[in-house]
Amino acid sequence: MNTTAALKTAAEPMTERAEDQLRIVIVGHVDHGKSTLVGRLLHDTDSLPEGKFEQIEQSCKRRGMPFEWSFLLDALQAERDQGVTIDTTQIWFKGETRDYCIIDAPGHREFLKNMITGAAMSEAALLLIDVDEGVKEQSKRHGYLLHLLGVRQVAVLMNKMDKAGYDEARFEQVKEEYKAYLASIGVEPIAMIPISAREGDMIVERGDNMPWYTGPSVMQALEHFAPLPQPVDQPLRFPVQDVYKFDDRRIIAGRIESGSLKVGDTILISPSNHTVRIHSIETLGDEVKTEAHAGESVGITLEDQLFLERGNIISHVENAPVLAKQITARLFWLGHEPLKEGARYKLKINTSELMAEVTKIEKVIDTDNLDGAKQQTVERNQVAEVLFTIRGLAAVDDYADQSRTGRFVIIDGYDIMGGGIISLDGVINQRVSSTNVKSSNIHGVDLQIDMDQRAVMNGHTGGILWFTGLSGSGKSTLALELQKRLFQKGYMVYVLDGDNVRQGLNNDLGFSPEDRTENIRRVGEVAALFADAGVIVITAFISPYNEDRKRARSANPEYFHNVYIRADVETCEKRDVKGLYKKAREGKISESNLVTAHPTSTT
Ligand code: GDP
Repeated sequence: MNTTAALKTAAEPMTERAEDQLRIVIVGHVDHGKSTLVGRLLHDTDSLPEGKFEQIEQSCKRRGMPFEWSFLLDALQAERDQGVTIDTTQIWFKGETRDYCIIDAPGHREFLKNMITGAAMSEAALLLIDVDEGVKEQSKRHGYLLHLLGVRQVAVLMNKMDKAGYDEARFEQVKEEYKAYLASIGVEPIAMIPISAREGDMIVERGDNMPWYTGPSVMQALEHFAPLPQPVDQPLRFPVQDVYKFDDRRIIAGRIESGSLKVGDTILISPSNHTVRIHSIETLGDEVKTEAHAGESVGITLEDQLFLERGNIISHVENAPVLAKQITARLFWLGHEPLKEGARYKLKINTSELMAEVTKIEKVIDTDNLDGAKQQTVERNQVAEVLFTIRGLAAVDDYADQSRTGRFVIIDGYDIMGGGIISLDGVINQRVSSTNVKSSNIHGVDLQIDMDQRAVMNGHTGGILWFTGLSGSGKSTLALELQKRLFQKGYMVYVLDGDNVRQGLNNDLGFSPEDRTENIRRVGEVAALFADAGVIVITAFISPYNEDRKRARSANPEYFHNVYIRADVETCEKRDVKGLYKKAREGKISESNLVTAHPTSTT
C-alpha cells in the first residue's frame, strides 16, 4: 500500500494545491452500483486508510456475510458520524496525475440540493447505469440534471457487466439507447465504458473479461477530464457579501466570482446603477495590492461614500449584469408542497435575497421524453420552466454566459426548496439609461427618495405614455389593454381616463377651447406626479393642441412619450363611439374635437 495515502483518510485531500484536484460527482439510480464503485476506486487506487479493507473483510467473515464493497463507504461514513473525520460529504482518491474528490457520497440525501446550489460544483460526472436493467427514467433524469447544471464532462459507466455475461451486444444496445437520449439533450459523453464495479473490470485495471472493448477505463477517462478554467477572463462579477466600517473607511467585502478588478477602475453598482472608482484593495498586512482576480475574497474601498449593501453586484460599466424585473428559470423543485402559480418565494441569487412571485409555470419538463406539459403546479423532484416576477430589480446573468452568477436557489428559512438556472431570453433590461446618473445622486447618502430609488423598489421607472389620435382610433381600448398586460406582468400602471378626471379634479371645466386646454394641463400635471411616484401612466385624450401636449410634456419631459394611434378617418367615423363625427357633420361641434395633429409636429 502507498504510504502517503495510508497516512491520510479517504476524507482528506492528499495534495494541497487546488489545480492538482478534480471534483467529480457520481450519479445513478439506487442500486445501480455507486457505492460499490466508490469502494472499488478507493481500494484500487490505494486510497484507503491502512488496514481498512482487511478489517471489513474480516468482519464480514466473522459474521458470515458476503463482502460488499459498499461496506467500505459505510465504514467511512460511520467514522464521520462519530466525528472521527471532519468532512461529511467529500471522499478523496488518488489518480496518477492528481487527486479526485467525490463531492457527494452516493446515497447522500443532500446530493441534489448541493448540486443545485453549486455548493458542490463538480467539474465532471460519472453516470452509472445498471446494464442489466437498462435505461430507466431515473437515469434519464440524472442525465438531464447534469445537463441543466452545466456539467459538461460526463463519462457513462455501464455497470454489472459480469451479470450480463460481459456481453458486448448487450453493452452496445444499452449504450446506443442512452447515447441517443443524451444527444437529444445536447450532452455528449466523453466515454461510455462497460464495467463491473464488483469484480473490478475496467475501473483501474482493465481485467481480462472484455477484450472486445478498446476504449478507456474509468481511471483513464478521469485522467482525461480537464479542470474548469478559472473565470478570470470573464466580465467582473463581485457580489457584495458585507460592508464593514473600520475607522473612517467603509470596506466592501465579498468574493470575486469572475473577472478582475484594479485600483482606479470605475465600477458600476447594481441594482442602484451608480458608478464610482475603486480607491483601494484592502489587505490584512502591509502588502499593497492593486488588483484582484476571480476566486479571491477581497475588501475594497471606494472614492465616494456610496450606499452599498449585501446583495449588490459590482461589475464594470461594460458587460454589466442585466437588471430584470422578470426572469425565466429552469428549476428543479425539492419542496414538499408543490410550487404554484401566484405563490411567492424567496430567491437567493448570489448574495442577494429577493421576493419573487411565480407569474407563470411555462411548462413542466418530462425528463423521460423531454416533452413540456402545461401544469398549474410543479411537484417535488420535477423540472420546470417558470417565469418569476421579482419585487424590485434583480441584477442577473444568463447562465449560458456566466455559470457562477446565473443560478439561484429558492429558500425557506434555512431550507432549500429548489434551485436552477436563469435564462434571460426575452427579458427586458431595465437599466435606466445605463450609467447616466446625475452627479447629485452620486455623493453621500440620499435622504430623499429620488426616482432612481423608486425605480429600484418598483422594478421599473415611472413614465407617461400619452396616447393621441382621432376620436375612435382606438386610444382607450389600446390604453386599457396595455394597462392590463403591464399590470399582469407586475408593473405599476394606471390609465388616466378623461371622463374619470372630469368627474373629480376637473368637474369645474366645460368643453370650451380654454377649458379643454386647462383640462389637458391638469391631466399633464397629474400624469407627471404619477410618473414621479414611479407609476407608468397611460393617458388617452384627443388633445388636439400642440401647445397643450407641449405643456404636458414639459411637466416631466424625460419620461413623456407621445404615442400617436394611427387610424384612417373612414374607420374612425364608422366606429364613432361617442357620436362625435355625427355631431361634427351636423355642425354641432368643431372638427378640432375629433383630431390630433400628428405628433411629429410636436416632438
Ligand atoms: P448504489 O445504491 O448505487 O450505491 O448501489 P450499491 O453500490 O449499493 O450496489 C447495489 C447492489 O448491486 C449491491 O448488492 C452490489 O453488490 C451490486 N453490484 C454493484 N456493482 C455490481 C457489479 O458490477 N456486478 C454485480 N453483479 N453486482 C453489483
